[in-house]
Amino acid sequence: MKQTLLILLALSLLLLSGCSCDHRWREADCLSPKTCESCGETEGEALGHSPGEWTETIDITACTIEKEQLCTRCGIQTGTETEVLDSLIRDELFLYTPEEFMARMAAIAEAYNDPFTYQITDSETGLMVEVQTGETAAFLQFFYADTSTFTYEDRNSRKVWCTSLIFYTEADANLQHYYLMAVDPTLDQDGAFQTQVAAFTAYANATLEGTAFGYYEQNGILFEYSYLSDDLTGWGYTLDMTNVYASDFR
Ligand SMILES: [Zn+2]
Ligand SMILES: [Zn+2]
Repeated sequence: MKQTLLILLALSLLLLSGCSCDHRWREADCLSPKTCESCGETEGEALGHSPGEWTETIDITACTIEKEQLCTRCGIQTGTETEVLDSLIRDELFLYTPEEFMARMAAIAEAYNDPFTYQITDSETGLMVEVQTGETAAFLQFFYADTSTFTYEDRNSRKVWCTSLIFYTEADANLQHYYLMAVDPTLDQDGAFQTQVAAFTAYANATLEGTAFGYYEQNGILFEYSYLSDDLTGWGYTLDMTNVYASDFR
């Protein structure tokens, strides 16, 4: 009898001590329910993540948009998506900045083992890019929607409406192809060649005396080609210019 009493006493002491945890509660978070840090007792359930807004990072060279969604509570990544860009135009402007455009064009040329050098400078008329490829020099300019020239300070701004490639001497065909491919991500070098042939036909059909001028549209991009030959003056001066517009303004 005495023994039974002792066992009962021991049992009740055990039970008492079990109930006596002075709980130290940690609030529920995304992964764990409300939990006592002393005894591990839990209440309710974990909250689960709270996905926030998607954010976008545009990669102009690869022509992708990396999308990412983070939990607003714990910051863990709750979602990622990669979207392929088949157009570099959004809201009637190009998505690229002048610097991004040049990096993309240089990467394309590099991929074809035909690299060129370029320099972005601040000229009297604004931002000017000089491209050197072998013997040939070409120039690139960028324009705002009001047709004014980009400023050097805006070389990292996504406000490009028109991109212009100018040759003052004989044009470098490869460089022209890289330029078209940089503007239109759906083109490979064969596609760029075909585009140039089609565009050439369009502007050759509009030939004026000593000059040619025409428009060609593809993949939502408006190409304006002009060619000026001033041989008659004896200077042998020719000018080749390709402007590409993010919207059809005609
Ligand atoms: Zn506890
Ligand atoms: Zn979370």
